[in-house]
Amino acid sequence: MTRPRILIVGGGFAGVECARRLERKLGPGEAQVTLATPFGYQLYLPLLPQVASGVLTPQSVAVSLRRGLRGTRIIPGGCVGVDPVAKVAVLRKITDELVNEPYDHLVLAPGSVTRTFDIPGLTEHAQGMKTLAEAAYLRDHVISQLDLAAATTDERERRSRLQFVVVGGGYAGTETAACLQRITAAAAERYPRLDPRDIKWHIVDIAPKLMPELGDRLGTDAMHVLQRRGIEVSLGVSVAKVEAEQVTLTDGRVLPCRTLVWTAGVAASPLIGTLGAETVKGRLVVTDRMTVPRFDGVFALGDAAAVPDLAKGDGAVCPPTAQHAQRQGKAVADNVLASLRGKPLEPYVHKDLGLVVDLGGRDAVSKPLGVQLTGVPAQAVARGYHLMALRTNVAKVRTLTNWLLNATAGDDYVRTGFQSRRPARLRDFEYTDTYLTPDQVRAHTESLHARH
Ligand SMILES: Cc1cc2nc3c(=O)[nH]c(=O)nc-3n(C[C@H](O)[C@H](O)[C@H](O)COP(=O)(O)OP(=O)(O)OC[C@H]3O[C@@H](n4cnc5c(N)ncnc54)[C@H](O)[C@@H]3O)c2cc1C
Repeated sequence: MTRPRILIVGGGFAGVECARRLERKLGPGEAQVTLATPFGYQLYLPLLPQVASGVLTPQSVAVSLRRGLRGTRIIPGGCVGVDPVAKVAVLRKITDELVNEPYDHLVLAPGSVTRTFDIPGLTEHAQGMKTLAEAAYLRDHVISQLDLAAATTDERERRSRLQFVVVGGGYAGTETAACLQRITAAAAERYPRLDPRDIKWHIVDIAPKLMPELGDRLGTDAMHVLQRRGIEVSLGVSVAKVEAEQVTLTDGRVLPCRTLVWTAGVAASPLIGTLGAETVKGRLVVTDRMTVPRFDGVFALGDAAAVPDLAKGDGAVCPPTAQHAQRQGKAVADNVLASLRGKPLEPYVHKDLGLVVDLGGRDAVSKPLGVQLTGVPAQAVARGYHLMALRTNVAKVRTLTNWLLNATAGDDYVRTGFQSRRPARLRDFEYTDTYLTPDQVRAHTESLHARH
């Protein structure tokens, strides 16, 4: 008899946690676990702004899958379609080869991609903050702007290179702007030809508040920190048009600018849209046990799924956070085990533990378990939390060492130049056009239907 096949799609917070728990809890020979994921690491996204600002090296937040998962078969590639009748996932390996991967239990955890809107010039010029490559690219790009601004004699060019716009006043955008502003503000020492007062950072958000999930007091505190550091915050405003050398805001202002970082929300992985299943705001509808209605043996979780938030009640769904994704990963593993063993599945319940927001240096705001903190205590909680949440000891030590080194030695402003002449569109980094239509999936799995 062949062992039941459990296929996990996505090696992020949710997928890796699920695989780890299955490895720990499965009996010998009870099932075979496979993980399909394009990269050899689990990306610790909450620290990505610190990679963009050079405080951490990319390796610090790329937690090795091979170190943590010993009993899982890892397929380097992504799932581009699912045939729920034949119970087959179609995978595109990193070589671009399409292969069929049969499953008995499928765990869908492909996360999310940057959400964009139909704004002229956005997809051509905006840069995202969702992948390791984007963070590394953005760091190089920002340093390039300092290098080029310091070298030019053209005032117009200098102004546009030294103005940076971040769209999105959630924690991702706020942390990105705050951490990057810190390195550009400290650049004067390495760039004596630049006047630090000419370097401008701007956060733009259509919402009336910054990071509303922090509550009024901490949101205001964060705003004061940003303003003290000279970061302009425009609320109730969005972007009307993006061009290579300027950005037009919806209130009519035209900002000379060659860097637009787009962090205005996330959308479920495009894989979800190809399934023909019910979605809510793009996320896959699932039960409180994280099963997908009408899809036998399929579970979904994390940013890609609208998991009911039973702790909040009132029909709420869990927000797309690492905190929920990780815990859902564990809960799904338990439910997969329960269905293997013919036991009842359990609902997912988790009460939010709060939020930590690192604004760089000693600046931070955080709300652990409802306690409102700012400054050094908030920063201690934020960094302690990240160290705890990083999954391997090597990753913890690497991160801690990077923090100490950066705090004592500062930044070297080294630009690698890697891919600097290549386009840097969201599509290039997030592979959003790699998926198959249901008909293409069916054509690919046709031979399997014949056998059924
Ligand atoms: C800049 C930033 C800062 C953040 N800060 C915080 C924070 O402070 N606290 C917090 O709780 N949350 C934070 N978040 C949100 C948090 O990172 C996400 O909610 C969390 O990563 C979701 O986990 P996931 O497993 O669903 O997706 P992910 O962690 O994104 O993992 C998805 C995985 O699936 C892979 N994948 C994608 N498509 C496919 C496919 N077709 N086939 C196979 N694999 C695929 C991806 O490569 C990735 O490995 C932040 C997010 C960002 C972008």
